[in-house]
Amino acid sequence: MRDLQPTGGKPPDQSADQPPNQSSDHRRRIPRTDDVLADPRLDAAMSALGRDTVKRCVVRAQDRARQGTIDVDAVTEDAVAALPAHATSLRRVVNATGVVVHTNIGRAPLSDAAVDAVRVAAGHTDVEYDLASGQRAGRGAGTLAALAGAVPAAESVHVVNNGAAALSLAATALAQGLEIVVSRGEMVEIGDGFRLPDLLSSTGAALREVGTTNRTSIDDYAAAVGPRTGFVLKVHPSNFVVRGFTSSVPVRELAGLGFPVVADIGSGLLRPDPELPDEPDAATTLRAGAALVTASGDKLLGGPQAGLVLGRAALVDRLRRHPLARALRVDKLTLAALEATLRGPAPPVSRALQQDTAGLHTRAWALAESLRSEGVPAETIETVGRVGGGGAPGVELPSRGVAVDAALAPMLRTGRPPVVGHVERARLVLDLRCVPPEQDDAVRNAVVAAAARREG
Ligand SMILES: *Cc1c(COP(=O)(O)O)cnc(C)c1O
Repeated sequence: MRDLQPTGGKPPDQSADQPPNQSSDHRRRIPRTDDVLADPRLDAAMSALGRDTVKRCVVRAQDRARQGTIDVDAVTEDAVAALPAHATSLRRVVNATGVVVHTNIGRAPLSDAAVDAVRVAAGHTDVEYDLASGQRAGRGAGTLAALAGAVPAAESVHVVNNGAAALSLAATALAQGLEIVVSRGEMVEIGDGFRLPDLLSSTGAALREVGTTNRTSIDDYAAAVGPRTGFVLKVHPSNFVVRGFTSSVPVRELAGLGFPVVADIGSGLLRPDPELPDEPDAATTLRAGAALVTASGDKLLGGPQAGLVLGRAALVDRLRRHPLARALRVDKLTLAALEATLRGPAPPVSRALQQDTAGLHTRAWALAESLRSEGVPAETIETVGRVGGGGAPGVELPSRGVAVDAALAPMLRTGRPPVVGHVERARLVLDLRCVPPEQDDAVRNAVVAAAARREG
């Protein structure tokens, strides 16, 4: 066999990739691309996937036939089997992690109503146009009205691309060249190496840190505020808890200092949630005296990735009119999904949070039983879910799931659909809290298929 490496800068000989047992006659029998593309299944796939994607599958199948990996007669079938299901490389994943808002698997899943809204907005739409007058209109007015309606304590609202963008815009518009007074106990890292202090400093505002990591008092703030103060910032330390000898200053007290208080509440709860008593919400925070509240749209609110800004009309207006606002402008798809989340039925995040252990136990028991009947060892177990995504860090969500052999984890992640659980004490735990009940069968089939692949 010849060396496959090109030598002397010359391109490899055409026959270099031809195994010795393949004759040129065999290669001539490989069907031509256009003939393969005429297959009705491949032809139909072109409207969903585009000609280039389908053609790539055919060319790869031809290559495999050329290399002798598949038979020349199998080129069409091989190309059909290789067709991706969708034009996106993103795959729908079953969240069996027990973490309700899991950043790595896309945080909040949209409700059906929000998905429908995205479909509507995907075409031409009156996002910035008044159909009655034929004139330009305020962008996303319906979405902003829905948000304002959900939080009457807010005089005005604005929406940007994400929570970090909302905070950057507030810092840029209200504190550039000035100081942001913030407690050392709230200088958090959001995740993936992004740190709030770095984000804020990058806007041209100076950070005036007060207090210590575990304790900050109102006197610390009072000594720091003055003519150079842009605003006082209160950050919800959403992904960790400080225990022991601690104290922090509530928004109500900070508001008494006489400077605008911007509160980054993180998770996007608009109203108090009795299930999550320690999680701040926009309405309560504004009523306590915050001038502005910023939050994410795709955490506990259960909507699309977005940054919400709510508060005093004069301040929201300064943010809206700042040149940077244009760079952080949300897409029409986001506006549509957010409005449907606010006005429509409760999103999957709420459903996952409200699952009771009795219902979860029944489902887990049925799943384990069904797996065992297929010869797959499985056990119903008690698990502990989390809110995740920077929300309610100390809160444990008692849950139920099924434990299977940890060796199935990689097969399940790469199966169809991919199922992501977590490995705990050498077992793979599939927590059912975030799995919609209608997906239980899909999980069962995926586990059975994974077990079969492992044996095969
Ligand atoms: C999640 C979070 C952010 C960042 O919001 P994104 O929407 O991810 O940009 C900022 N602050 C807090 C307190 C958060 O929890």
